[in-house]
Amino acid sequence: MFEYFLRKPVCQEMGRKFKIAFSSSEKDTALTFMHDLGAIPRIKIVDGKEVRGFKVLVGGGLGAQPFLATTVHEFLEEDLLIPYLETVLRVFDRHGERNSRHKARIKYLIQKIGIDAFNELIREEHLALTQQRYKVDVSDQWSMVSGASTAGSSPLTTHHSPLTTDPFKFERWKKTNVFKQKQDDYFAAYVRVANGNIGSDASRRLIEKLRNVIADNVLEEEGYAAPGFGSTADVTSCPGTDTCNLGISNSTGTAFVLSEVIEEEYPEFLYNKELAIKISGCMNSCGQHGMASIGFHGSSLKAKGQVLPALQVLIGGGVLGRGEGRISDKILKVPSKRAPDVLRYVLNDYKTNNENESFLDYSKRKGDRYYYNLLKPLASLETLQAEDFIDFGQQEKFSTAIGVGECAGVMIDLVSTLILEAEEKIINSEECLANNKWADGIYHAYSAQVHSAKALLLQQGVQCNTQHGILKDFDTHFREKGLYTAAESFKTSVMRMSDVPPSEAFANEYLQQAKEFIEFAKIFREQAVMAEK
Ligand code: SF4
Repeated sequence: MFEYFLRKPVCQEMGRKFKIAFSSSEKDTALTFMHDLGAIPRIKIVDGKEVRGFKVLVGGGLGAQPFLATTVHEFLEEDLLIPYLETVLRVFDRHGERNSRHKARIKYLIQKIGIDAFNELIREEHLALTQQRYKVDVSDQWSMVSGASTAGSSPLTTHHSPLTTDPFKFERWKKTNVFKQKQDDYFAAYVRVANGNIGSDASRRLIEKLRNVIADNVLEEEGYAAPGFGSTADVTSCPGTDTCNLGISNSTGTAFVLSEVIEEEYPEFLYNKELAIKISGCMNSCGQHGMASIGFHGSSLKAKGQVLPALQVLIGGGVLGRGEGRISDKILKVPSKRAPDVLRYVLNDYKTNNENESFLDYSKRKGDRYYYNLLKPLASLETLQAEDFIDFGQQEKFSTAIGVGECAGVMIDLVSTLILEAEEKIINSEECLANNKWADGIYHAYSAQVHSAKALLLQQGVQCNTQHGILKDFDTHFREKGLYTAAESFKTSVMRMSDVPPSEAFANEYLQQAKEFIEFAKIFREQAVMAEK
């Protein structure tokens, strides 16, 4: 998929990112339900033969407004997966939001038009694809994977026990960090790395030591023998205010403190792989608080005329498997320094009252109101101490200075730039046609026309958003006003590219149409500039 789409014209200028997740089993460890597109492998028996394919989901995402993905195929044959994604990207490119960055994700497009209309657009796009089926040759990948797994592992039983100095520590580490591989007598070990931070020197030393030795005391010597990989103590956190301009709270500092609470006060949760704590420095959810069992995101509160660091608490999210998940419920906001107490309240309550239920089942049964009442005493601003005004991991008083999240572009002449880009697309299209890539050449010619039309609409002071809107608006503001006098509507002539299978004859004819349109755009632009002078 990566190789196929790397330079595909359809995904070079999308409104924003598009995240893809592949899980390897129904356990769904890649969290397909919260990605733009997710795929879970499945096997079906057809006429006595195994057919490989995928369950496919689209339109999930966390962020400030979380959405669960919708299942679009319970089973899609593997050769149809890449063509399917190509249709999704074509629809997203044309109909996706372009003005508001926050809305420029496929989840918002599906929310706006509905899944039925989205599926209809996908169907309409099918004819124009490069290939209706795309066979992926997996033979190379299989040999790489099986080679790597046996070379990198070793029968644990043939080595001396690691961490022999302390049998309890070793047994605990083994129980929480080691798993049995599919091959008999082979095991692999996870290394728990706090906040995912491991320096280059430590990594190199570890690799050197592990090169010929699999089971020994290496991890302990290097400080990477912490038990509880993937457990409640293995807290997930985004970088927060350490490095992110959008961060409000120090999520990594909070994660360290909460890990310590588990290790020192609730060691039994080192064995719990279900109850997950996840922290983000702001509501954007890079730390996945929106699907955590116990989630926190950075925020602020005002008290005594000052601001103090706060955390929004969320409860009850998680992975259900088979592409399904649950979004956490927002409960309430507490001063950040009370996060350890939030954890204690929630865990004590669960330990005392659960009826052999998972935390996911227990928290669902109890509901958000129950947790609101449970945690309400921790939200009080009556008993604040001086330290409540200083965030975890910081010395100075908290302030809410938020910077720009990504590079802010310089001012440019947008109209001229769009026309220049359209000309570049014509060159790209010609290159594709010279290499018999009809569908890609057609798509570049399509983009060239959309760019030129957008330039002219901006020139006339018309606000532009989606490509679909640009095609319609051009007819309204140019054709209906007699500024563009072609016999056929602009939208109809441009959208012919979705109505016919890609062929050499059509690609050449369509490229010619695009070239003529750019010439029209350039002349119109020159005349407008002259008139302004
Ligand atoms: S944007 Fe927010 S959630 Fe994402 S890394 Fe920055 S602070 Fe964390």
